[in-house]
Formats: sequence, C-alpha cells, structure tokens
Amino acid sequence: MGDNNRNFDVIVIGSGISGGWAAKEFCEKGLKTLVLERGRDVRHGKDYPTTNMLPWEFEHRGQPPYEIQKDNPVVSRCYAFREDAMHFFVKDKEHPYVQDKPFDWIRGYQVGGKSLLWARQTQRWSDYDFEGPARDGFATDWPIRYKDIAPWYSYVEKFAGISGNKDGIDTLPDGEFLPALDLNCVENHFKDVVSKNYPGRHVIYGRCAHLTQPQQIHLDQGRAQCQKRTLCQRGCPFGGYFSSNSSTIPWAEKTGNMTLRTNAVVQSVIYDDKKGKVTGVRIFDSNTKETIEFYARVIFVNAAALNTNLILLNSTSSRFENGLGNDSGVLGKYVAFHNYRARVSGVYEGFLDKKTDGRSHTSAYLPRFRNVKKQETDFLRGYAAGFGGGRSNEGVNAQFGVDLKNGIDNPTLGPWRVGSHMMGETIPKESNTLTLDPVQKDEWGMPLLKINIDYDDNDEKMVKDYLEQLSEMFAKAGFTDIKTSDSKQAPGLDIHEMGGVRMGNDPKTSVLNKWNQMHACKNVFVTDGACMTSTSTQNPSLTYMAFTARAADYAIQQMKKGEI
Ligand SMILES: Cc1cc2nc3c(=O)[nH]c(=O)nc-3n(C[C@H](O)[C@H](O)[C@H](O)COP(=O)(O)OP(=O)(O)OC[C@H]3O[C@@H](n4cnc5c(N)ncnc54)[C@H](O)[C@@H]3O)c2cc1C
Ligand code: SF4
Repeated sequence: MGDNNRNFDVIVIGSGISGGWAAKEFCEKGLKTLVLERGRDVRHGKDYPTTNMLPWEFEHRGQPPYEIQKDNPVVSRCYAFREDAMHFFVKDKEHPYVQDKPFDWIRGYQVGGKSLLWARQTQRWSDYDFEGPARDGFATDWPIRYKDIAPWYSYVEKFAGISGNKDGIDTLPDGEFLPALDLNCVENHFKDVVSKNYPGRHVIYGRCAHLTQPQQIHLDQGRAQCQKRTLCQRGCPFGGYFSSNSSTIPWAEKTGNMTLRTNAVVQSVIYDDKKGKVTGVRIFDSNTKETIEFYARVIFVNAAALNTNLILLNSTSSRFENGLGNDSGVLGKYVAFHNYRARVSGVYEGFLDKKTDGRSHTSAYLPRFRNVKKQETDFLRGYAAGFGGGRSNEGVNAQFGVDLKNGIDNPTLGPWRVGSHMMGETIPKESNTLTLDPVQKDEWGMPLLKINIDYDDNDEKMVKDYLEQLSEMFAKAGFTDIKTSDSKQAPGLDIHEMGGVRMGNDPKTSVLNKWNQMHACKNVFVTDGACMTSTSTQNPSLTYMAFTARAADYAIQQMKKGEI
C-alpha cells in the first residue's frame, strides 16, 4: 500500500454503534474517512447466516455446545450467547484479559460491533442525570446539560428510528418517536396500579430502536418495517432494528468517502513529539501480521469503552508517558457500569380469559423514581426497572407423538407470570481502574487489559431497596408468589461499562472537554462509553450516538476554521 493511501481527513477506530455514527457524519460532509475495524466484515443481510433458520435446524436446539460453554464461561453468562448468535460474540479464550476482580467483559469484534446484538432499548438521559454528580457530590461535574445534547438526540433518533410514546416524564424526556406497540393487559394493569398508588412513579412502553412505521429516511437506507420476529440478535434482513450494519455504515459507504479496513487491530494513536501533535494511528494487520501507520487530521476513538481505554493507555510518547492525553492522571480511572443483579417475579391470577398473540420486541419500563427530587434513602442515586408479563403453555406433558402435537395445537395456558429486573446506577470511583498488564501481551502485540472494578456498599443498599420496593408494588398490584433474587453477577454482564476517559470542564480532573475532545490533544475525540462522567440508569447507547454526531459536527467546524 503506497503512502497516498495512508493519508485521510479523519480516522475512526471501531465500526460499532458509535464508530458507525462517526463514519456517517464525516463521509456525508465530504471528508475522506478511514474506518479501522479489528474484526471481520459483516455485510447487512448477506452475512447473517442464521437469520432465517427454524428452531429445529439448530444442531443443539439453540444451546451453545457444552465444549464451547466450558471453554468460555464469561461470554456464556450473557443471555444472548446462544447458538443463533454466538458467531457475533468474542470467545473468552480467543481474547484474554486480566480480572483483578471478577468482570464479565462481553464483546463483539466485527463490523457493526455489538450493534448487531444489542437489545435496542433507547431512553434519553435528562438533567437529573447530567446534574447528578454536581448535586450529589460524586465523580466530577458533567461539562454539558440536557439542552446541549437534546437536539442531537432528535437528530440521531430520526435517522435510527425509535418507537415510543410521548409520556411527558421529566426524568425521561420525550423524543422523535415512531408509533409504540401496545403493552399487554397485565402490563397495563401494573401501570394503572402504580400510577394510582405511587405519585412520581411511571410504567411506560420501553422506547426501542425498531421501525414500527418506517419513514422516507429509513426506506432510503434500504430498511423496512419490523416484522416482530424477535430474532434480532441474528441480524435482521429487513433492517427492522438499528445496527451499524443496516444503517450508518452502508450510508457512509454510499458517499464514496469511506475506506473500511477490517482485520486492523489498532494498537496506539501516534503522538509525534517533534510536531507536538497527534498525527495518526498504528495498526497490526491480523491477516498479514504487518504493523502499518495511517495518518489523518482528526482521530475518533470508538473501540467501545474498555478497548478505547486500552488503546489510549498504550499510546505513550515522551510527552505522554502514561497514556495519551493523560495529564490529569485520571485515564483508566472512575470506570462504572450498571447494576443488573436483582430481579422480582410473581404470578397474576386475573385476565385468565386473555392471552397475547404475536411477539413484542420490547417490554414495559419504569424510569428511575428514587432520590430524584430529593435525597430520600441511605444510598446515592437510584435504579430503573424493566417489567414484563406473559402466559405460556404449561400443559404439554407428552414428549413425542400425537399427544405432543395435540398439546401444542391446543395449549393449556398457565397464569400470567410477571417479572422485573433492576437497572441501577453505580458511582464512578477512582479505585475502579483499568491498567495495562506489564508483562502479558495478546497475539496482536497489545498488553492485556487489567480490570479492577467492583460493587460497593451503595450498590448493596440499592439492591435491597429495589427488591423491597418492587415486591411492595407487585403486592399492591395483586401479584402473588412474589420471589426476589440477587444473582450477585460480576460487573460487566450489564454490558454498559463506561468511563475511564471522562468528560469534564477541568483538565486537571478529566481527559475530555465538553465537545468530547481531548483537553491535551485537540484533534482526538472519544465518543463511546469511555467518555461518560457518570452512568445514569438509562441504557447508554443512544447517548453515545448523540455525543458522536455532536462531536463530529464540532470537529468539522474546527477543521474548517483551521483550528485542528
Ligand atoms: C446482548 C446485548 C444487549 C444490549 N442491550 C442494549 C440496550 O438495550 N440498550 C443499549 O443502550 N445498549 C445495549 N447494549 C450495549 C451496546 O451494544 C453498546 O453500548 C454499544 O454497542 C457500544 O457502542 P460502541 O460503538 O462503543 O462499541 P461496539 O458497538 O462494541 O463497537 C466497537 C467496535 O470497535 C472494534 N474495536 C475494538 N478494539 C479495536 C481495536 N483495537 N482496533 C480496531 N477496532 C477495534 C470492535 O471490534 C467493535 O466493532 C447491549 C449489548 C449486548 C451485547
Ligand atoms: S423483530 Fe423486527 S428487527 Fe427484530 S428480527 Fe424481527 S423484523 Fe427484524
């Protein structure tokens, strides 16, 4: 490859949810953009091998084979790691890391990253989240407020396609929604009971990235209406849900301005000590085993939160001995995640004359209600909760033959079973760290990432409160056989890891400014989960998308002015 092919306007590291957005924004504006992706290519439609398979066509009836589970205990704990989608997950054995404390690191290394696999829940954050650290005195103050990001939420929602209702809840601002599906009768019943008995608590349809009524912009992407197959994690041939593969990456490609290089494991961002600035990126090509450098005016780091930390910690120079842009010493610190440990289940004996028909790609959602307007518990912050209910066929005893067929054709439905799971905010702490292993390297020459992240007393109190509150609300709704559980799962299985390269106003306590731009290297931007100052309770990917589009717009303006 000649030198000419190594120079670009922009380099984007990673092609997942956030990298896809960066690629789209820069390519649309005419900038020659190199997208570096460590995994293989996954073409929309063409590379979804299981998408149309029927249950009995899977050799292990959906379960990952025992040998695979045994060899890969971490990823096997993820609910979506099943036979139909396991080819989109990183296997523990292939990509080792060091767990100073248990951490389930769930990854997807391919074009599209984890956007192929995600559960597509897309709730906006509010000022109760952006003002949280300043109000409650933890971490550092966010350098932005809701008004700064609101127009960018609208911008990404319109393109991605989000279905939802305008619920008018100040903790969960409304967005640009396609029509929502209906909640079922037991979900509506719970909603009514909660709104009558608990002022300030709401049960709503969980907003999600599905095309319930595609608009022209979605048809222009080649996407079509969601068919409610709920086989999304296989990759959707209709483009019914948002992924980089169905949406942003092909959109960027269509401009003719994108160069996508797969099997390109970024090792470091190059800081040129002589020039006093960042000039490009160094990769290890996993096919040819070559180390190659690429150069650009602007670098967007979107390798997903922990890998972005790894790349930056590994980007050392005389100027930055402890990692790129790390004048403050906070790079790799204040990492946080979501606490998904707790669940409550129950049974409802009513509505026995009703059942659901078809499938729904989302369930009900309870926005955070604890410590919102004032501090009311002995722990900081709060939790959101998922809620769903359904009836299943409980009457087929036969394993084969006519009795089995009859049983399936004439199901004996059991009662409504209901369940809720907790989505708790955790507090970013200095002691939750990511560092480089000083000795061990992977086969691509990168030091192994050492993860040292844990729960604390605040999380334990929050679990207890969630279990008490949801049990009480379940009882109020007439649910019986209420059971609570705490899985005590390790951090990471929530798949919402954030921080380490946090935003802030003060360069002494943060790495990025309010534009996701490095305080110390103005042509480097981080817009994946690594940039997050705190974690809120809402699923974070919509916010990464909005940050990415906003930062790309700012970077383009700065490039035009010759500032970067
Ligand atoms: C089962 C599941 C359910 C989820 N549900 C939700 C949900 O409902 N709502 C929600 O908001 N979020 C959800 N998430 C999380 C969501 O998928 C992530 O937040 C999101 O994908 C993060 O986007 P990203 O761009 O930071 O990273 P990714 O989408 O993971 O993309 C990162 C890309 O960078 C590449 N990369 C990594 N290192 C390098 C390197 N050194 N060089 C080059 N390339 C590199 C990777 O291969 C990958 O393609 C879920 C995730 C999973 C797995
Ligand atoms: S539910 Fe919708 S998005 Fe998911 S696979 Fe089916 S059609 Fe595609």
